[in-house]
Amino acid sequence: MDKNVKICIIGGGPAGLSAGMYLEKKGYTNYTILERNDRVGGKCWSPTYNGRRYEMGAIMGVPSYYAVHDVEEFCGITHDGPKLNRNYKNAQGKVIEPFEPKKNILKIPRLLKMKKQLKVFGELLETKYKGYDINGHRGVAEGRYDGFAVTPEREPVSGVNPNLKDLALPFSEFCKKNGVELVQDIWIGPYTSFGYGYFDEIPAGYVVKYLDFQTTMNFVKVNLWTWKEGTQWIWEQLNDHLKNPARLGVAIEKVERKDGKVCVYIAGEAEPEVYDKIIVTAPLHIPDKRADGQKGMDEYFDVRDDEKQLFSKIDYERYDVLAVETKPEDHPEISYYVFDNMVKERLGHLMVYYRRWKDEVNQVITTYSLRKHKDMKEVPYEDCKKMVLDDLKTMKNPASNVVNEWSVYYFPHVFSEDYAAGWYDKVEAMQGKYDTFYAGEVMSFGDMDETAEYSRELVERFF
Ligand SMILES: Cc1cc2nc3c(=O)[nH]c(=O)nc-3n(C[C@H](O)[C@H](O)[C@H](O)COP(=O)(O)OP(=O)(O)OC[C@H]3O[C@@H](n4cnc5c(N)ncnc54)[C@H](O)[C@@H]3O)c2cc1C
Repeated sequence: MDKNVKICIIGGGPAGLSAGMYLEKKGYTNYTILERNDRVGGKCWSPTYNGRRYEMGAIMGVPSYYAVHDVEEFCGITHDGPKLNRNYKNAQGKVIEPFEPKKNILKIPRLLKMKKQLKVFGELLETKYKGYDINGHRGVAEGRYDGFAVTPEREPVSGVNPNLKDLALPFSEFCKKNGVELVQDIWIGPYTSFGYGYFDEIPAGYVVKYLDFQTTMNFVKVNLWTWKEGTQWIWEQLNDHLKNPARLGVAIEKVERKDGKVCVYIAGEAEPEVYDKIIVTAPLHIPDKRADGQKGMDEYFDVRDDEKQLFSKIDYERYDVLAVETKPEDHPEISYYVFDNMVKERLGHLMVYYRRWKDEVNQVITTYSLRKHKDMKEVPYEDCKKMVLDDLKTMKNPASNVVNEWSVYYFPHVFSEDYAAGWYDKVEAMQGKYDTFYAGEVMSFGDMDETAEYSRELVERFF
């Protein structure tokens, strides 16, 4: 492609900013990033409390976050944040050690079985499901893998493996099919409690691509990255280092694609801005008739029939975060996971709460809950908030005040039927059609690295 091509990028989150970085690295400097908010970072939001930044959005990374590492290198920064640590409680607020045989004498047979299944699962992923862990979902529904290896070099890999079609199954069925149901006890912590839904509804492809074996072991061993100034700072730094930093507070009223040009109408501007190509990292979601308040792409894009047909299949989670103060004597000594609440029967309850700074009780604790499941009625926001605050009392860490809160449009994805029917290959086949490229969370997975990595690959493949 001509290096002077004029490119519009919608969204100044990890996907949009890293698209800018990778374009720039490849010699494309005629790009413009348009961000609706008055800050960059998207779901990486790190406000300040008592002089220190805390996390309302993304918290951590793992050593295989190669794209995030590219950003760190580009900016000359590193993951310098507090070490993470956690313990477990049951729904009654009692501290438990679910994986410690000595503390669970009656559960020893189950724990031993789980250990065996873990080994089998690790081997299955490397053999039967060879190719499962590359970024993105291209070819999976057809029993192929096609992408870039998850290594620092990201060498291109592709091949045929009909077993990969199993990745369309909900993760619980996938585990059952392979006789490794008990590994869900390990995967659930960094999956469901991190807002990515329940194993009976989410296709295994999402689960194992995000939580590949190595990444899961890093979670188990708490071998994780954090950033002192918060994850938002990574993207603020990147924005500061880009040749064309994001334009903030931009309200896009209309995007019209015609005659090989993309016209972007912005509030307050008399004339549209005219581009050659557009990369959309904002949600592609086109809501159904339920009035869920979520803005759809069709409200400002001249969406075509194929876009409408495919993007209306996207569903998402509702992940709610509260930042609360506690009295010093009620402050938790560490972060806690509440496994009992990571099942759909406990929808809306507190699944994790996070203490970021070990040396300080004058700080906020952040809480996490999910309130949406495919087969259930959504728990209303206020009900969920009340449940979480009650749960904190049960945990003996009651909140004295809520200082910040948001309900996040989270983890856009498709369900098994559409995954199996090749949703990803159909969308991939549309890349570049209408001078439009699709990136951001739904195209790979809803975490910082996989969205940034997808942008890297998009630039690699098409620019
Ligand atoms: C509570 C929480 C915890 C998380 N924990 C982790 C974690 O520990 N580790 C991890 O890796 N990830 C985590 N994530 C996920 C991670 O933050 C996201 O996956 C990542 O930010 C996605 O990047 P993105 O650029 O695709 O989307 P976003 O971050 O959502 O950014 C999209 C951007 O587009 C902008 N935008 C949207 N619509 C428009 C429009 N019409 N015009 C202009 N701009 C628009 C938005 O304002 C936003 O800035 C967490 C997220 C949350 C909310």
